[in-house]
Amino acid sequence: MSMVKVCFGGTFDPVHAGHIGSAKALAELLAVPVTLLPNGVPAHRDRPDASPEQRLAMLRMACENEAQLLVDSREIERTGPSYTIDSVMAMRAEMASSDGLIWCLGEDAFAQLHTWHRWRDLLQYTHLLVLQRPASDGPKDTELLDFWQRHRVRQVRHLLARPSGSIASIGLPQYAVSATTIRQLLVQGKTPPEHMLPAKIAHYIAAQNLYKVEAN
Ligand code: ATP
Repeated sequence: MSMVKVCFGGTFDPVHAGHIGSAKALAELLAVPVTLLPNGVPAHRDRPDASPEQRLAMLRMACENEAQLLVDSREIERTGPSYTIDSVMAMRAEMASSDGLIWCLGEDAFAQLHTWHRWRDLLQYTHLLVLQRPASDGPKDTELLDFWQRHRVRQVRHLLARPSGSIASIGLPQYAVSATTIRQLLVQGKTPPEHMLPAKIAHYIAAQNLYKVEAN
């Protein structure tokens, strides 16, 4: 296999230390840059508080001095719901057929995979790499459990043997932070600690007057 592309999608409302720390750890472990993709209109959750442009600006800011982290804005530039299948198909079309594609997602997101548009087709184009998270349960859906069973590989290095088609899990150093916690702190008028939210992102949030009211 000639090249491997590693992607990490999300809403990033806002990007936080858990996203950045996990992406950096992955880049180091796999020895390849990690591309972060903010979604435009998330298909599986409420509309984010910050606009796509604000979420993209925060993500770019968080990655600006991180040589191993790249930002791809294609999901924001597309109209309509941001489906991962569209992104992996588009990326595949840009790559050699022998190149590997690895789409990373947290365990909480993986547990809902069966609700994603054309979820069963994802593995035709990419591998999935599930990041374990201490506070989240694994999948419960029986079809997803069966799919996982059929495509699961025990070690991340097995993903490097083929361009797509497998699911691996990985336990990285854990960051007990979520964007929900950060928004809740901000609504209460508190500044999230730097180990949760980089100071430059906190400054941007204050300057843009973001996350002032409880989302409905
Ligand atoms: P929210 O609390 O609003 O649901 P979030 O913190 O989970 O947000 P998202 O943008 O929804 O952030 O997540 C993007 C991806 O990052 C998802 O796959 C999610 O599982 C993963 N992720 C989020 N927080 C962490 C963390 N602390 N460690 C590892 N992965 C994380």
